[in-house]
Amino acid sequence: MVRKLYMSVSCKTDIVGDGKMPRCPKCGAEINSLDVKALTIMRFFMHLGEPCYEPTEAQPEDTRFYCPECGAVLFTSEEEAVKFLKQ
Ligand SMILES: [Zn+2]
Repeated sequence: MVRKLYMSVSCKTDIVGDGKMPRCPKCGAEINSLDVKALTIMRFFMHLGEPCYEPTEAQPEDTRFYCPECGAVLFTSEEEAVKFLKQ
C-alpha cells in the first residue's frame, strides 16, 4: 500500500497541565499546548507513475515549537518544550 506523505509534518501536542497554564514569554497568552513543525527526511520515488513519499529512519531536523497564539518560535527541542508545559 502506498501512502502519500509530506516533507513538512505538523501536528499539535495537546498536553493538559494541572490547572496552572504556562504563559508565552512573547505575547503573554496562557497556553497548554504548542504547535510543532519538524522537517523530516523522506524517500521520494515514482510508483505506478505517481510521485510517492516514504518515511525513513532519519531523525526529524529543524524541530520548532511555536506559540499557537502569536506564532513565535519558543523552543527548538522537545526537552525545553516539555519543561515549559510542565511548569
Ligand atoms: Zn505567544
